Amino acid sequence: MYIMNGLNRKNLQKDADDICKGAPTLHFNRREVQALLVLFKGFNNKGEKLDRNQFRDFLQVWFSMTEDLLMDRVFRAFDTDSDSYINTKEWVEGLSVFMRGTLDEKIDYTFKVYDLNGDSYISREEMFQMLKNSLVKQPTEEDPDEGVKDLVETALKKMDFDHDSRLSFADFKQAVVAEELLLEAFGPCLPDEKSLEVYEAKLADVAMDFTDFSSKN
Ligand code: CA
Ligand code: CA
Ligand code: CA
Repeated sequence: MYIMNGLNRKNLQKDADDICKGAPTLHFNRREVQALLVLFKGFNNKGEKLDRNQFRDFLQVWFSMTEDLLMDRVFRAFDTDSDSYINTKEWVEGLSVFMRGTLDEKIDYTFKVYDLNGDSYISREEMFQMLKNSLVKQPTEEDPDEGVKDLVETALKKMDFDHDSRLSFADFKQAVVAEELLLEAFGPCLPDEKSLEVYEAKLADVAMDFTDFSSKN
């Protein structure tokens, strides 16, 4: 019922197989990868890639994300070849971490999201920018930036283990391993439990249309 025009089962199997072979740590089996390819085409029947707006729609509709800066960063984290589009391989591999990643994979992912300029550190300014966006403004406050600055200092106190006033990947990882809630310290960029449940159900529903064509998985 989910097989749409232009979607040939054989091609779908081949595409899914190629993606699975190229990604040994994938958390989806081949049936699920085929279903993800169908869902991908559902967003974008004509093109072979999702553009930024199509991907943002997906994050908004299914995962209730609203924050522009973080949605853009999530897009960048998925777009591993940096061509400003999400291809099917990036889609499946990105969702593997996003939906079912191990803690280590999620630490890699969120650090990448939060390192806004990609220099391998989360700086004071980057923390400030992200926390400012996610904080509800108090109109009574004389200087709303003061509250955000306090949060940045609190984060540094907790996470900046080598005291150089910025978070390296090692700082970030050590902090998150000690206290998992810090994984999303600078704003939501992973699915909340309820949204994830709904999307997993959708995926399972579409995957029922496929038989496992491989003995592996
Ligand atoms: Ca890309
Ligand atoms: Ca940075
Ligand atoms: Ca540091």
